[in-house]
Amino acid sequence: MLSSDFQSLEALRPFASKCPRCSLCKFPPLVRVESAAHSGICPSYEEFKVHASSGGGMLVMAMSLLDGRSEPTDTVRRIAFGCHACGGCDVACKFSADIEVQETILQLRAKLFVERGPLPGHDAVLASLARRGHPLPAHDTDLAAALAALDLSSRDGASVLLWIGPHHALDPHRTKTLRRALSLLDRAGVAWTTLGDREPYTGRAALEIGDRASFRAFAERAARAIEGSGAKRVVCLSAEDYATLRADVPRVAAVRARVSHVVELYDELLAKRRLTPQARIARAVTWHDTSYLGRLSEPFVPWRGVARKIEGQIEIYDPPRPVRSGGGGCYEPPRRVLGRIPGLVLREMPRRREYAFDSGESGQAAAVLPDFARASARRRAEEARSTGVELLVTECPQSLALLESACSEGGSGLRATSLTDLLAMSVEGDLS
Ligand code: SF4
Ligand code: SF4
Repeated sequence: MLSSDFQSLEALRPFASKCPRCSLCKFPPLVRVESAAHSGICPSYEEFKVHASSGGGMLVMAMSLLDGRSEPTDTVRRIAFGCHACGGCDVACKFSADIEVQETILQLRAKLFVERGPLPGHDAVLASLARRGHPLPAHDTDLAAALAALDLSSRDGASVLLWIGPHHALDPHRTKTLRRALSLLDRAGVAWTTLGDREPYTGRAALEIGDRASFRAFAERAARAIEGSGAKRVVCLSAEDYATLRADVPRVAAVRARVSHVVELYDELLAKRRLTPQARIARAVTWHDTSYLGRLSEPFVPWRGVARKIEGQIEIYDPPRPVRSGGGGCYEPPRRVLGRIPGLVLREMPRRREYAFDSGESGQAAAVLPDFARASARRRAEEARSTGVELLVTECPQSLALLESACSEGGSGLRATSLTDLLAMSVEGDLS
């Protein structure tokens, strides 16, 4: 019996063993390629230029380890974790196949973690999770203390539970954006509440490092906190929490509340005219589909079934198997929000939506190979620059931090900003 909740690398063997090394996972589908300069989808392959550092290469390593043909050496670990676990290879492969590349990469990491422990850099992240409740070792404040210091008071009759996340609580730049988001919601009359200092981390860093036991503990806490609050709707400020609560936590514990991202809420409030952009922002902008808000947020769909062969050749699943191919991410809402800001012109990057190029934000690669994460951000900023825009807009704290830095290095005047900040400027008429 097969299941969509792959609990081990072995459970992925039926899929991983189908890979013919066609290498299509290194590129967006050909029909979606718009320029030779931006025809890759895999940041690790672009950086390291070896097949091992691609989705197909990860499958080869996984199968080899399972079969005992190789060992979990330091080289294997460096390659498996020198990747953003961004899912680009997964959606590129699924354009023509149904191989679970992203699931295999995460289970490969889990196997390496069990057999060899964390890499230097990841050990600090895990120590911070254990001691401080968040994955940001550079911040020595507890997550609970940082959330309490925000002093967020609830509104009467709250219908929305806001999920703040560690980046907005701990990083002063992101806290400013959080305050602007709250001000927009107040202006629109949204009755929101938070869990205050009881909001746990959703656990994604542990999942990406391969520490499944730790992830399970965080996921169970997060699900319990949501259930205990009685919330019908959770609105995440962070794209990482949005992806994790939709796609990963439900494999561990039920989340019955509807999970949204704040960008989706802005979109609804603008459509109902509860928010009205006023100030004209005469700028050309482009939108970065961060992996967490996009393809990695496609919801998990439980499934159990069997594989059968027709005429000994064509494989079918009984019942039909749902395949997460990335199209179920949050793509239209941010574009509609940008489209409602007077004067703003959206110019799309060649790689977008489920085929966007990761800017180094995901996979905990930044903790072990910071130069690689910075290089991915520089590649994405260069792609934004090629569209001739002045502003690169996204809504993900990790992505924004990397892109701000990459844009400042380019010397072309390109700047990265958050959608919240841009919308607040127009709605509040403050263009300073
Ligand atoms: S993972 Fe998919 S796209 Fe990549 S080489 Fe294998 S079959 Fe081809
Ligand atoms: S997850 Fe991203 S970085 Fe890793 S192999 Fe796939 S496309 Fe490349």
